[in-house]
Amino acid sequence: MTIDETTLKSMFSDIATAITADRDRLCALDGVIGDADHGIAMELGFNAARDAVAALGPEADPTAVLNTAAKAFLNAVGASSGPLYATAFMRAGAVAKGKAVLSDADFVEVFRAMAQGIRDRGKAEPGEKTMIDAWVPAAEAAAAASAGGASAAEAIDAAAKAADKGAEATKAMVAAKGRSARLGDRSIGHVDPGAASAVTVITAIAKSLSAAQA
Ligand code: ADP
Ligand code: MG
Repeated sequence: MTIDETTLKSMFSDIATAITADRDRLCALDGVIGDADHGIAMELGFNAARDAVAALGPEADPTAVLNTAAKAFLNAVGASSGPLYATAFMRAGAVAKGKAVLSDADFVEVFRAMAQGIRDRGKAEPGEKTMIDAWVPAAEAAAAASAGGASAAEAIDAAAKAADKGAEATKAMVAAKGRSARLGDRSIGHVDPGAASAVTVITAIAKSLSAAQA
């Protein structure tokens, strides 16, 4: 398939819809080991990103869409997820640079750049009970599927499944980064909210891609 600015605008809209539907669960998860605002932060961020990219004309290329989403997300969100997702979209925009349309393989590279951006910005390692524990296995699964000949939709679907496993695994982890780190061992037994929302985001991307190619 070819992924262009229209595909990306729909994708941001689809992510925003999925996050809004999940907002209260994400706030509740954050209420247990954080400050109960994660669903609101993600909703504000993705609504702002959706609206900002929708306002761009058809001349916008994928890089312009992704950079616009990054700025909007950063401006809308005061919580720590703000700069993390903003960096993800900036890095994605850099990888898409110069391309009017993205191939399936290009999109998987864009997706991997998002995970790497979050990792570089937050400096969290796998196992520290953050969204990285969903994003890193997701990026690896997408790359492996794509190398094996999967379409972008199939690769991101594999990523969503890996993210889900990764998020589930955060239950057993001790938080070592962000607000919940101060709980220490008391963070054990609870899913990390940022890892949970990453599953929602990645699942929405997979569904949006398969709808676009249908
Ligand atoms: P805040 O903690 O400022 O209220 P949010 O509630 O929006 O921000 O997001 C909390 C989530 O951010 C955590 O569940 C975790 O997944 C993620 N997070 C926090 N710090 C980091 C970090 N350094 N690297 C990656 N993810 C992080
Ligand atoms: Mg919070």
